[in-house]
Amino acid sequence: MKKIPSVAIVGAGLAGSEAAWQLAERGHAVRLFEMRPVRMTAAHKTGECAELVCSNSFKSRSVENAHGLLKAEMALHKSLILKTGERFSVPAGQALAIDREPFAESIGVQLKAHPKITFCNEEVIDVSELINSHSHVIFATGPLTSDALAASLQDILGAQYLSFYDAIAPVITAESIDMDIAFRASRYGKGEADYFNCPMHHEQYQTFITAVQEAEKVELHQFEDIRPFEGCLPIEVMVERGPDTLRFGPMKPVGLEHPETGERFHAVVQLRQENSVGSLYNLVGFQTKMTWTAQKEVFAMIPGLANAEFVRLGSVHRNTFINGPALLNPQLNLKSHPNVFFAGQITGVEGYMESTAMGILAARQIAASLENRLESPPSPDTMMGALIRYITETDPTIFQPMNSNLGLLDPPEKKMNKADRKKWYAERALHKAAEYANQV
Ligand SMILES: Cc1cc2nc3c(=O)[nH]c(=O)nc-3n(C[C@H](O)[C@H](O)[C@H](O)COP(=O)(O)OP(=O)(O)OC[C@H]3O[C@@H](n4cnc5c(N)ncnc54)[C@H](O)[C@@H]3O)c2cc1C
Repeated sequence: MKKIPSVAIVGAGLAGSEAAWQLAERGHAVRLFEMRPVRMTAAHKTGECAELVCSNSFKSRSVENAHGLLKAEMALHKSLILKTGERFSVPAGQALAIDREPFAESIGVQLKAHPKITFCNEEVIDVSELINSHSHVIFATGPLTSDALAASLQDILGAQYLSFYDAIAPVITAESIDMDIAFRASRYGKGEADYFNCPMHHEQYQTFITAVQEAEKVELHQFEDIRPFEGCLPIEVMVERGPDTLRFGPMKPVGLEHPETGERFHAVVQLRQENSVGSLYNLVGFQTKMTWTAQKEVFAMIPGLANAEFVRLGSVHRNTFINGPALLNPQLNLKSHPNVFFAGQITGVEGYMESTAMGILAARQIAASLENRLESPPSPDTMMGALIRYITETDPTIFQPMNSNLGLLDPPEKKMNKADRKKWYAERALHKAAEYANQV
């Protein structure tokens, strides 16, 4: 098949729209495929590009907040989504909130008017055909990638590397765990003592179970059916099955005696290292549909977590995403097919801005390839680079999506108070992000 000398981008959501703009602005021809309104997803309501499917917030603007820092880095790349978001912002205190309809309409108008962008209103269903006919391809089809395309992606990726639901356990900072209560041990003392264990006595467990039963839960969307997902049930569903279900599941205490006192416990919550630098830990098996407020209250009852700092709360969503650590290079292309890139939420990042940022990075890499240059990914000291490190270097056997948070960054060597540390993260990140953005 003859190759068309242009880049194909599938999905004109946040990531695909951004990637198309970035490439086109550098003078590269792009074909942008979008299936809506011909075929809708279960969450989108319009045929517009870059529709915001739920909240209208792009979150904090403060660079001392992870979301604000990410936006400041994206601004260095003249992000279309961010610029247009600013144009259609509505008052929301420290946050950047968007008037979604004129925003989405404007993104479509700008893309369709660009001389380097050809807009193709069709559903892509055959991955191989697209790869064989274009120099580079970006899949940016998001959490609700169409069924036909997902099936075709499975053929080239391997079915086990494409997930349709996430099951996110809460993540806390290591330094916020009370080490006087939590103890390091692995079950039956096998292998390294990699886990922190938060022990519960009988009464503490019963109080905890009652709190889970009474906690407010988030309603499932109509299109979300978690029944097939038996291996990763939310904890409240396990509790509904009986008060001891958690004790025989993720809170199983057997083989987890206290290493110094030999004490046995009624139940144990295990904390597993989340990132390679060891600054984050997740509550193993604690995916949940409890509301965020309820999670903070209920999980603070766990011994050792009274002052836990949550960088991510638990959830279970309909979400199509690939196993980045198994499949992707840090350039966001497939190890098996170097001209095939992924961007957006399908890479395993989570959130509007995180998805858009992956569109910027995939586009930069393709531009470098078309211009016969080599470009390294951004430093992991930047928020964009830290996300890339997370989606490509996490243990692939436990990989779940992640949003931006300061816990993804390597901490400073010298001790600092929280406020100084946030400033330090922002200064270091923005300095390196500027160097990266100004390479060409
Ligand atoms: C119900 C729901 C609520 C959410 N709420 C929030 C929230 O409040 N805040 C937040 O930050 N994030 C939220 N998210 C996550 C949000 O979807 C992402 O952050 C963001 O939209 C992802 O951007 P994206 O470009 O990767 O995907 P999308 O914006 O979804 O874009 C993907 C595009 O690909 C198109 N497409 C799919 N398959 C094909 C195909 N075969 N051929 C052609 N086109 C195709 C789709 O129509 C869509 O336009 C939510 C997600 C869902 C599902």
